[in-house]
Formats: sequence, structure tokens, C-alpha cells
Amino acid sequence: MLEINNLQATVADKPILKGLSLTINAGEIHAIMGPNGAGKSTLGYTLGGRPGYEVTGGSATFNGQDLFELAPHERAAAGLFLGFQYPVEIPGVSFVQFLRESANAQRKSRGEAPLSGGEFLKLAREKAGLLRMDMDMLKRPVNVGFSGGEKKRAEMVQMGILDPKLAILDETDSGLDIDALRVCGEGINAIMRKSDKAVLLITHYQRLLDYVKPDFVHVLAAGRIVKSGGADLALRLEEEGYEAVVQETAA
Ligand code: ADP
Ligand code: MG
Ligand code: MG
Repeated sequence: MLEINNLQATVADKPILKGLSLTINAGEIHAIMGPNGAGKSTLGYTLGGRPGYEVTGGSATFNGQDLFELAPHERAAAGLFLGFQYPVEIPGVSFVQFLRESANAQRKSRGEAPLSGGEFLKLAREKAGLLRMDMDMLKRPVNVGFSGGEKKRAEMVQMGILDPKLAILDETDSGLDIDALRVCGEGINAIMRKSDKAVLLITHYQRLLDYVKPDFVHVLAAGRIVKSGGADLALRLEEEGYEAVVQETAA
């Protein structure tokens, strides 16, 4: 589904990704872990096509298409979803409006008719239910005054509505209490754990992985993947720290 080969990328002319390779197949959940500043968010933003993140070498194909040839909205239309570490607030726009507009923008890019009001509400209710989110909450302006947990749950509702093929989720667990963590984890499983979908979970801590069991865990350090393993690698990292595991690789 996603094949990244020797990817190099700069942010503000500073090289951050320095030859990163990763293959993700349909049906797989991958976790990328790594120390602060390793380039985890940069990887997500570069794949999503955020302005300011410049690809300087290497390649990425998404379902056979050259990802970097696609504009950000075309990547979304092709089934790529990016969950952000810091969700934006949009005063004056309700979450319901935002969800409907993003769903219909995606459908338009695919040449599909927009959802009717009734179709959209049915879908929104179903996905909000998965995330135990009250519809009243979603009538409020996007993320304004939402707690950390509410922002993430709302983002997972959006993911459910957009129904992506590949979700890249950057620190979905940050700022979540235990209950919100479980609800988000269960939401990710319900929406994305399917044979034709895949997830790349970017996380600093292994606790989200208690709920969303990864098939593969990778350590990103200094702009490259320096170690890969199974779910047990995340537990080792938590216990021994990145330093020890990365040094062992270098030795
Ligand atoms: P992580 O998500 O692994 O903590 P990031 O991808 O956010 O790491 O950052 C990787 C490196 O890129 C860091 O050294 C960070 O300071 C730098 N960086 C990120 N964004 C910018 C920016 N907009 N301008 C300059 N440097 C940046
Ligand atoms: Mg960070
Ligand atoms: Mg980050």
C-alpha cells in the first residue's frame, strides 16, 4: 500500500529525514516510535504534503501512485488520512459543518455526488457513536474549548467518516487520559483494522499500543529507521529507553 524508499526531506532547509525506507501492506498496523526531534512528525507531514516540508530525495508510492506527484487534496482523495499531533481550532465553523465539508470535498475529488443532509447525519451519528461522542459536542466550533481527549475523539470521528485506506496518526495518545485512550484505541480498531486498510501510528509512548496492537514497530532516530521488530520492541523501548536500543544497533 505504501512504499517509502530512501526518503530525504528538509524543513526550513534543514535536512530532517535522511534516507528513510518503510513498506506498509494492506491489513498491517505499524508503529513508529522515537525520541523527540527524531523526525516522526516530519515524516507524517511530508507524506501528507504539508507546505514547508520539502522532499529532496527518494520516493514514496501509495497504491502504485507516486505520492509526491499528488497535491495534498488528491492524496486525501486517494485514501490517505493524516491525524495531527496538534489539531487546529476553527472558530465560527461547527464540527458538523467541517465534517460534512471535508466528506463532500473528498467525494468531489473522486467524482462522486455529495452526501445528502440525511445521509451525512446518519454517517456522522454512527461514527460519533463509535467514539462515544455526543452529537451536541460536534455542533460546537471545531476544537474550540475541546479537551485533549475530545479533540482526538473528534478527529477519529472525522477519520471514520472519510474512511481512508491508510491513516497516519501522529501522537494520537498525547494529552489523553486512560479512558479517552481506550475509546480512541477502540475507535481506531473499529474503523481501520480491516484487511484492505493500514495504519501508521506515530507515538512517543507505548501505551496506545496496549489498545491498538501493532504488527510492526520501528524506531526512528536521526531521520532514519534504525530498528524494526514486533510489538515486543515497543515494550523493550519503554523499559530500556531509546538510547540503549539505538546504541545497540549502532554497535
Ligand atoms: P518528532 O516528531 O520526532 O519529535 P519533528 O519531526 O517534529 O520530530 O522534528 C524533527 C526536527 O525538525 C527537529 O529538530 C525540529 O526542531 C525540526 N523542525 C521541525 N519543524 C521545523 C520548522 N518548521 N522549522 C525548523 N525546524 C523544524
Ligand atoms: Mg515531538
Ligand atoms: Mg512529533
